Amino acid sequence: MTECEICGSKAIKKAEIDGAIVNVCSECVKYGKVVVGPVKIRAKPIKDIDSSRYIDPKYPELIKKTREKMEMKIEELAKKINEKESVISSLERGHLSPSFNLAKKLENFLEIKLILEYNEEFHSSKGKKDNSLTIGDVVDLGELDD
Ligand SMILES: [Zn+2]
Repeated sequence: MTECEICGSKAIKKAEIDGAIVNVCSECVKYGKVVVGPVKIRAKPIKDIDSSRYIDPKYPELIKKTREKMEMKIEELAKKINEKESVISSLERGHLSPSFNLAKKLENFLEIKLILEYNEEFHSSKGKKDNSLTIGDVVDLGELDD
């Protein structure tokens, strides 16, 4: 966990305070100017109305691979989760983005994770190192979006 350099609670942002870049929590951010907010995934996320959930952009292969691993035909999977065969095949080809309801059904049935949260992504990218995100890390993540 990155600690807020002012009060010691969980830092979520970087802010410029008196010319120095420091990690700050949501409270202490008011003491400085924000330079880096939470890292957002910009790869065409399908946003939930009221939260930061989004569908994993790798859903087509996740669904297909898992289904194949379970040795199920598309029509079998469709029947199991009460969807049309055409819906499943469109999902697997990436022609259709699942709604959160449908994603939830697929998650439960296939035991995979399709619905992600920006926060999880943010924390896991921080988790790679003992130290906090550096500005460089943030720039690198940003460049993933082409
Ligand atoms: Zn603080």
